[in-house]
Amino acid sequence: MSASLAVRDLSVRYQTPRGEVHALRHVDLDAEPGQVIGIVGESGCGKSTFVSALANLLPPNAMVEGAIGYGGTDLVGLDPCRRRMLQGNEIALVSQDPMTAFNPVLTVGDQLVDFQHHRSDLGRAEKRRRIAAMLERVGISDPERRMNSYPHELSGGMRQRVAIAAALLTDPGLLIADEPTTALDVTMEAQIVHLLAELRREYNGIIVLVSHHLGVIAELCDRVYVMYGGEVLEAGDVEEIFDRPRHPYTRALLACDPARFDERLERLPTIPGAPPNLIDPPPGCSFAARCSRVFAPCHTTHPAAKVLPTGHVARCHAVVL
Ligand code: ATP
Ligand code: MG
Repeated sequence: MSASLAVRDLSVRYQTPRGEVHALRHVDLDAEPGQVIGIVGESGCGKSTFVSALANLLPPNAMVEGAIGYGGTDLVGLDPCRRRMLQGNEIALVSQDPMTAFNPVLTVGDQLVDFQHHRSDLGRAEKRRRIAAMLERVGISDPERRMNSYPHELSGGMRQRVAIAAALLTDPGLLIADEPTTALDVTMEAQIVHLLAELRREYNGIIVLVSHHLGVIAELCDRVYVMYGGEVLEAGDVEEIFDRPRHPYTRALLACDPARFDERLERLPTIPGAPPNLIDPPPGCSFAARCSRVFAPCHTTHPAAKVLPTGHVARCHAVVL
C-alpha cells in the first residue's frame, strides 16, 4: 500500500531517574507517496526518537502524544495490537548498525523468510525466490550463496544491503533509514547512497532518510526537516533549504558542512556552545543561546512556526514573512 503520512503535534518524553527528557516537541510533518524526506540536525536533537516513534520502536520509558496519520488512520490512537500489525507490515526501519536487525545464529536466508511472515499466500520456495531476487536487486551477487551465510560472515556494507532488502521484502509503504551509512567506510557509503538513489526512482512509497551527511540529503531528498533540541526549526523543499535557508541554525549547520568548507579557512567552523538540556528546555527559542541573530524575545517567547508562501516553514522570531 502507498499512503500519505501526516504527523501532527507529535511529542515524545522519556522517563528517566533524573527527570523527563523532552526528546521530541510538537513536530508536524507531511509526506506523499514517492517523496524522499530528509531529517538533519546535530547529535541528540531527536532524529532517532522521531523515526522510532514513526516505526513504533520506542523503548518502554517513552511517552508519545500527538498524531501519526498514515493513510488516514491515526497510529498513536490505535489499540496496541492493531498498531503493531499495521506498523509492522507498512513501516520498515533500517538502522545505523544492521547487526542489531539480525539474529546471529540464523542464516540470512532463514531470517529473510521470517521477514515475509505476512505473505501467507507464498510457500517457502517462493519466498526464497523472492529473497534471491531482492538480494540481487540491492546489488548482492551470488545471492544463493549469501542466503546460506550467517550475518557475521558478511561485510558491514553487505549487511546494510541485506538490511535494506529485508525492509523491502515486507512491501512497506514507508521506508525509514536512520543514518544507514554512518557505520560504513567512504566507499561503502557511496555504494549504499547509490543504491538508495536507484530505489528512489522505482519505489513508490515514502522514504524518510536521517543523515548527518548534508551532501547525501541534498542528493536524495525532496523535502528536508532541520531538527534542533527536539523541535523542527526549519522545513522546506530541498533547494529552499540548501539555497535559501531562513533559520540561523540551518545557516550555521550549512556553514559547518565539510563539503562546503572554504579552503581558505584553516579550520572547519563549528557552532559555538552546546544544544539545550532536554530535561529542562528553555522557555524561548531552543537555539537562542547559540544564535548569532538573537534578540530579547528569543529568550522568553517560544517562536511559532511561520509558513512562507513557498511552503517553507521556519520557527524563528527574526524571520519576517
Ligand atoms: P544522534 O545523531 O546522536 O543519533 P539523535 O538526533 O538521533 O542523535 P535521539 O537519539 O533521538 O537523538 O535523542 C534525543 C534525546 O533523547 C537525547 O537527549 C537523548 O539523550 C535522549 N534519549 C534517547 N533515548 C533515550 C532513552 N531511551 N531514555 C532517555 N533518554 C533518551
Ligand atoms: Mg540517532
